[in-house]
Amino acid sequence: MNLENYIRDIQDFPKPGIGFKDITPLLSNPEATSACLELLASTLADKNINKVIGVESRGFFFGILLAQKLNAGFVPVRKPKKLPFETISASYELEYGTDTLEMHIDAIQKGDRVLIHDDVLATGGTATAVCELVEQLGGEIVQMNFLMELSFLNGREKLGNKEIFAALTY
Ligand code: IMP
Repeated sequence: MNLENYIRDIQDFPKPGIGFKDITPLLSNPEATSACLELLASTLADKNINKVIGVESRGFFFGILLAQKLNAGFVPVRKPKKLPFETISASYELEYGTDTLEMHIDAIQKGDRVLIHDDVLATGGTATAVCELVEQLGGEIVQMNFLMELSFLNGREKLGNKEIFAALTY
């Protein structure tokens, strides 16, 4: 199955000049969703991952599926002021200004083996901030995986020597 057939390109979203990769056709097809989950999980056997992080909001979809498949706990990383308990935060640069992500202070324990999941790796700013959150709490980042990597934006370089897997690369 070619997963690329289930990704829709939307021009000028959310702003003029941006080409947005829309995963909703993939999510609406159970065979494509299942094939994508199997592909992501195929790289994770025997890695003893016990926590899966999903990044708000499109990282939640496959994040929870992966956590269930790996028999690991699921941890949401969210935009500011969404999480109810005490949080830690990390900020990252955007084209104009900065953005912040938060995680509950008890979401990761020292020594946890963590998978970070999001839908898209673009410039790598989001993923870098999530790494900072995990490392603040002493978690070990085993892999970062994505449905798609926009390789022309060089996000991988920002992430240093972390293990990275993407189901699709553009
Ligand atoms: P980065 O921080 O530049 O790597 O951007 C990654 C974040 O932006 C992820 O959380 C994605 O959900 C979102 N993102 C960037 N480009 C796209 C896209 O084309 N489709 C869907 N999400 C995107």
